[in-house]
Amino acid sequence: MHFNIQKSVTTRINEVDFKNLVFGKVFSDHMLVADYIGTDWQTPQILPYGKFLVAPSMSSLHHAQSIFEGMKVYKGRNGEPLFFRAHDNFNRLNVSGARMCMPPVPEEIFMDGLKELVKLDTNFIPDEDNLSLYVRPIYFATDEAIGVKASQNYRLIIFTTPTGAYYSEPLKVYIETKYSRSAEGGTGYAKAAGNYGGSFYPTKIAMDRGYHQLIWTDASENKYVEESGSMNLMFVFGNTLVTPALGPSKLAGITRDSIIKLAKKFNIAVEERNISVDEILTQYNNGNLKEAFGCGTAANIAHIQTIGYDDDKQMLLPPISERPISTMLGKSLNDIKMGKIKDEFGWVTTV
Ligand SMILES: *Cc1c(COP(=O)(O)O)cnc(C)c1O
Repeated sequence: MHFNIQKSVTTRINEVDFKNLVFGKVFSDHMLVADYIGTDWQTPQILPYGKFLVAPSMSSLHHAQSIFEGMKVYKGRNGEPLFFRAHDNFNRLNVSGARMCMPPVPEEIFMDGLKELVKLDTNFIPDEDNLSLYVRPIYFATDEAIGVKASQNYRLIIFTTPTGAYYSEPLKVYIETKYSRSAEGGTGYAKAAGNYGGSFYPTKIAMDRGYHQLIWTDASENKYVEESGSMNLMFVFGNTLVTPALGPSKLAGITRDSIIKLAKKFNIAVEERNISVDEILTQYNNGNLKEAFGCGTAANIAHIQTIGYDDDKQMLLPPISERPISTMLGKSLNDIKMGKIKDEFGWVTTV
């Protein structure tokens, strides 16, 4: 695959405070830009990261025909970039795109482009434990037309940002039973921009009450838990790892899948099934709710400390030091990503 590469003549590396990284605020020197015009992909470009002009009529701004992805690259022992399951992110981008009526992105543009891009900006990959280069692909409609229909033209951009921990403390989450993130038949299984915009208001209400995030419940009955923010949910009931089964309203997290596969390797019992709010309460009251966490690329594993429900009620979970299963799974996953232990799954690839 040929890329037109225009290297940046300056660098922003000095703007990066590797000791105090916050999520998604500083960006590496380059970005990949690939345009789909009418029927064809144009030669992809790698350009200095920067702004571009947008027409007020650009269709994705009006109707959110726009999707994204998120993945991480770690620095290997010899300074080489280690990509974690990047091909799964590529596949999921096209699953989301199909739902949003967007043409598939060719594998060479995405995968080769990603590698070219990260090669140019390798010095932005932090080399400390738990820090990484977060990769953000975004794919959106670019027609200058406000008719309510699928665009003829699209742009794929991939840019990267050196990043630290997404959450710095164990989470307080609230079980939301009034607002919904997604419904069966909707776009919940796609990483579609509008899903997130719609989640901010209910999340803000919970944040104003001291919570970090919501636990979403199913849209039809508000009875079963689904996800938390942009993370999948996991519980340990007794010694069993239990997670909501995937379905059309849930995003199929790559971290979720990795945790399940790791748990099975360690002979931990895993159940993927519906989990009702009532069951969580019963398990809690019986002293059986041992651990709970969210999992996703940005957060890796985020321990849940408090679960709020029914307005002012709360379940208080055991301290993090008493959570052997999630601690072990989170550490193993990190060690695999950073190339510290053998990757038996074929998840980690280099350039
Ligand atoms: C991205 C995302 C996840 C986590 O997916 P990963 O592939 O593990 O990063 C979970 N839920 C939602 C809603 C998401 O957007």
